[in-house]
Amino acid sequence: MGELDFLTGMNSRQIDFDTFDGRLLTRVLQHEPSFLCCISCGGCTATCSAGNLTDFNVRKIGLMLRQGDIDKLAVEIDKCMFCGKCTLVCPRDINIRNVVLLIKKGISQLKTSTSLI
Ligand code: SF4
Ligand code: SF4
Repeated sequence: MGELDFLTGMNSRQIDFDTFDGRLLTRVLQHEPSFLCCISCGGCTATCSAGNLTDFNVRKIGLMLRQGDIDKLAVEIDKCMFCGKCTLVCPRDINIRNVVLLIKKGISQLKTSTSLI
């Protein structure tokens, strides 16, 4: 049994296949393949404007995306202010702001249809 992740309250390597939905992850990797290089260092979270004002955690967004937890993402994603500070500090040059934007747009599309563009 792995360690319990203090950010998510669950094992960060655990995927629940009963609830897993990979459509958003596929979409993000199609449009922002640099996300594959994320090392979950938390640099984005440390500088996040929304995280300074709310309980928003952008690193946690990446974990939810990999776990295919669209219901939780839909609740959290609106807290992002799209300031772009996370992208400036990422050691892997990941446009994490664009990742958040792709998730947000994808969730909007899923609410109105079953396919993603
Ligand atoms: S700063 Fe970059 S590498 Fe680090 S967790 Fe955020 S997106 Fe991943
Ligand atoms: S763009 Fe969103 S996730 Fe990135 S630092 Fe700004 S508020 Fe945080």
